[in-house]
Amino acid sequence: MNPIGVFGGTFDPIHYGHLRTAFELMQSLRLSEVRFMPCGTPPHRGQPVADAKTRLAMVRAATEGQPGFIVDDREMRREGPSYSVDTLFDLRAEYPHRSLCLIVGMDAFLSLPKWYQWREILQLAHVIVAHRPGWRAPDHGPLGELIVDRGTTRIDDLHEARAGGIFIHAVTQLEISSTAVRSLVAAQGDPRFLMPDAVRDIILETGCYGRGGNEEEKNT
Ligand code: ATP
Repeated sequence: MNPIGVFGGTFDPIHYGHLRTAFELMQSLRLSEVRFMPCGTPPHRGQPVADAKTRLAMVRAATEGQPGFIVDDREMRREGPSYSVDTLFDLRAEYPHRSLCLIVGMDAFLSLPKWYQWREILQLAHVIVAHRPGWRAPDHGPLGELIVDRGTTRIDDLHEARAGGIFIHAVTQLEISSTAVRSLVAAQGDPRFLMPDAVRDIILETGCYGRGGNEEEKNT
């Protein structure tokens, strides 16, 4: 069985930067699936702007119809902060023999040493780092050392071992961030083409980031 990709995020909202990254990694690394895991209470940042129900609906709408894209809402159902280590621990118990690949953008990878029990994460999964515009891989400090010790460029390593590798992969650079989308909508801009239309529809219908969008269309 091929590895399972695990893609956690606030997804406030999900956009093409997330979707294209997940798709390219699923294909290049021969993942059997990518599990999108919207977090309930993010431990390392401020509270999301859109509520959990709306963020989950956007992730569902964005991934619908794409074979291999699975939405897993376990972090939203769990009480307390959404620690990745707890999620991976659960998945490891469910899939004792499968390789697990935790997907993170380079910005998220750089903050890994601040994550709860971050060293345990590598005992439970590989970490796949998607190269993100404007961010460079660390070449010193704990992460630089980790890349030297655990880094691999062999996709087969991710299939042969269940966990423990760091794999940095360049993906098509789409300079989209949820923060920029939220600001755009709050300033009454239209997020069209930054995300699937079904996600844009939810943003406009719920008004979760303020008024935004195309007034004419909203009034019809
Ligand atoms: P925000 O602007 O609110 O911080 P974000 O756009 O970074 O949000 P998150 O939901 O926080 O989105 O990100 C989830 C994961 O997706 C993180 O690992 C992040 O690094 C990665 N990611 C986000 N945007 C991109 C992008 N444009 N290209 C590649 N990876 C991305």
